[in-house]
Amino acid sequence: MKSTAAQDAARMSVPDAAGSRALKALQASESRYRRLFETAQDGILLLNAENAQIEDVNPFLTKLLGYTHAEFLGKKIWEVGSFADMEHSKDMFAALQTRGYVRYDDLPLKTKSGTAVAVEFVSNSYLCDGLTVIQCNVRDMTARQQDRARIAYLNRVYAVLSAINSLIVRVSDRDTLFRRACTVAVDKGGFQMAVIALVDHAQMQVVPVASAGVDEKLLCLLKDRFVLIEEPAMDNPIMARAIQRKEAVVINDLQSEPHVAFASYYGQAGIQSVAVLPLIVAQDAVGVLALYAREREFFHAEELGLLTELAGDIAFAIDHIGKQERLDYLAFYDVLTGLANRNLFLERLALYLRSAASADHQAGLFLIDLERFRNINDSLGRPAGDALLRQVADWLKRNLGDASLVARLGSDQFGVILPQVQRDGDLTRLIERTMDRFLAHPFRINDEQFRVSIKVGVALFPDDGVDADILLRNAEAALKKAKLRGEKFLFYERTMTDAVAGKFSLENRLRHALDNQEFVLHYQPKMNLVTGKVTSAEALIRWNDPRTGLMAPGRFIPVLEETGLIHEVGRWALNQAIGDYLRWRSAGLAAVPIGVNVSPLQLRKRGFVAEVGRAIGVDLHAAAGVELEITENLIMEDVNHSIDSLGSIRAMGVRIAIDDFGTGFSSLAYLARLPVDILKIDRAFVTEMTASPQGLALVSTIIDMAHAFNLLVVAEGVETDEQSRLLRLLRCEELQGFLFSKPVPAGVFEDRFLRPVQVT
Ligand code: C2E
Ligand code: CA
Ligand code: CA
Repeated sequence: MKSTAAQDAARMSVPDAAGSRALKALQASESRYRRLFETAQDGILLLNAENAQIEDVNPFLTKLLGYTHAEFLGKKIWEVGSFADMEHSKDMFAALQTRGYVRYDDLPLKTKSGTAVAVEFVSNSYLCDGLTVIQCNVRDMTARQQDRARIAYLNRVYAVLSAINSLIVRVSDRDTLFRRACTVAVDKGGFQMAVIALVDHAQMQVVPVASAGVDEKLLCLLKDRFVLIEEPAMDNPIMARAIQRKEAVVINDLQSEPHVAFASYYGQAGIQSVAVLPLIVAQDAVGVLALYAREREFFHAEELGLLTELAGDIAFAIDHIGKQERLDYLAFYDVLTGLANRNLFLERLALYLRSAASADHQAGLFLIDLERFRNINDSLGRPAGDALLRQVADWLKRNLGDASLVARLGSDQFGVILPQVQRDGDLTRLIERTMDRFLAHPFRINDEQFRVSIKVGVALFPDDGVDADILLRNAEAALKKAKLRGEKFLFYERTMTDAVAGKFSLENRLRHALDNQEFVLHYQPKMNLVTGKVTSAEALIRWNDPRTGLMAPGRFIPVLEETGLIHEVGRWALNQAIGDYLRWRSAGLAAVPIGVNVSPLQLRKRGFVAEVGRAIGVDLHAAAGVELEITENLIMEDVNHSIDSLGSIRAMGVRIAIDDFGTGFSSLAYLARLPVDILKIDRAFVTEMTASPQGLALVSTIIDMAHAFNLLVVAEGVETDEQSRLLRLLRCEELQGFLFSKPVPAGVFEDRFLRPVQVT
């Protein structure tokens, strides 16, 4: 700085005391300004307004533009490289001279090394000791400009994100989704190129499945590099790296990255940066989304955050669509055996029937039922049963030549299509031979060999039905009859369907039974083994069928359950029992509580607890008059739900009994947690008790265990004095059974067990 007020003042030499103070003050001020100039975070350039010569330049500007202090000093402004490139720097100077002020918001300059910098250029002129000085402030705007560009870019990525999200909702097949996602990335996101590639584990490759903005040559080259090699991470292709690490791999300057193959091709394709984002489904990298940008240094933390979200959304869609495909699969295939299910089987059957019709030949439909499959499930467990079903499916596929002819139609039922049956062919012999071969085949379960026998029902096209549904129904009728009659196989005969139709009419008749008040409750007493007194009763439903007479529940409860009628009928039984109890009370009889059976379906239904609440709400004494009997199997099916519901019911003052105990393999730990009051030992154990020492030991254990949990024990199905005596010895509290009384109508029950004995 040649001449400033401070310097001029410093040069003055007035050696009196006041002058020396003033001098000191000036020196202090000079150094303060100097420091400001030296440390300013904007560039400052001082020009001689007469000749455009640079008078001074601060360190910030020398650093920004890369020229030394000496390279600036004494030069005219347009002689310094950065400004020399500026065509209008002379005009700028002219403007400064005349107006004393210029301002450029966005002035592009070059540094000495040639890098572009954008600056804001503001200048003022002022008079200083008779000399006009122009002060130019130069502010580096590069970062701010980049910020602006970044915000614009982030906005574009947002646009891509929301566009892809709306795609995900609308598009239901993968290929379309992938294709459109790539297009959106290029069109809306401004990427040069976008590729989605999926992992093919069998080929150890990442296979591009969709792309947009693609440079064909580059894609071709890349394809060879889509191999998933287990090389040291750095030598691995970018995509493989992203998949192996399950994290984004970003290269912001492909040209200077030593580990990138085809750097020059990327250059030719106008690509400088790449981000490869893994698509992660269920913790597994199933593919990648690769985005290629024209700009260097394109992908930074914020963008990556958004892009990762984008990859996450695409992965979600893959998963979602995958599940949909799986659902489609479930709609047509049996998951256990991989065979067609009933839906697909019927579709295929219809096709075969159509071609049989046009070729004018017969076709056959076989239904195969495994005998005693239930036993295998029960004795060896579900996994063993499943293993057997898979082996049977394999056998059928292998021996019938074409897997598409076979289907699994029910738990242990298979269907087979015989596309062509010779009119004079000996179908019977074919069936017999096949059945023998099947029976001879050793199936293996848990290292043991099993022979499995089957029953077969056959229906023929066109005689037994011309469409798939009817043919299947008729084959089912034939199979049912074969099972009833104990035949190995049966051909359909027209009379068979009547029996099947019976079921439908049973259903229909049951629908009217409630309205017509055809249901009744019979009561069976339970007796205290010590006092011999009746302690309670069990309500057992009967159906007074106008056509066939009194029907036992074993025959119609399953139909009620199948049709959902059980909810209504169960509600009726509960209310009827409560009504009877209250009636006994008000008639002054020795009313005893009534146990009401609850179907699994009822307990599972939401609102059941509330329904019980409503039923006992009719009277203060109702709760004490009713017990709910719930089978053990059912409680164990969903223990936590059972504990909740039973707990709430019990809290209303209703006692709970576990019915059929011993059939459900309850663990003792659960028994302790169950909110129950009574345990009813299943009739099978009572029978077994007198038949074998083990049976006796078992019942003894059950009783002791129940007592340990403070449960009252009732033995069911007691038929003999011996059973009764043993139970008393084992300290079982109560018995129920034909020995004491069969279930009887309410009126009989009242007379026999609730009225005081008339002494005459
Ligand atoms: P459960 O709850 O085990 O009822 C006991 C069954 O054993 C009754 O058959 C009863 O008649 C029979 N029984 C009683 N003592 C003896 C005996 O000494 N020897 C023999 N052999 N049997 C005896 P029932 O009445 O045919 O009922 C069968 C099943 O139907 C019941 O088994 C119960 O699970 C169900 N059930 C009955 N009423 C209803 C109802 O209102 N709702 C529901 N959901 N199920 C009911
Ligand atoms: Ca019962
Ligand atoms: Ca029972």
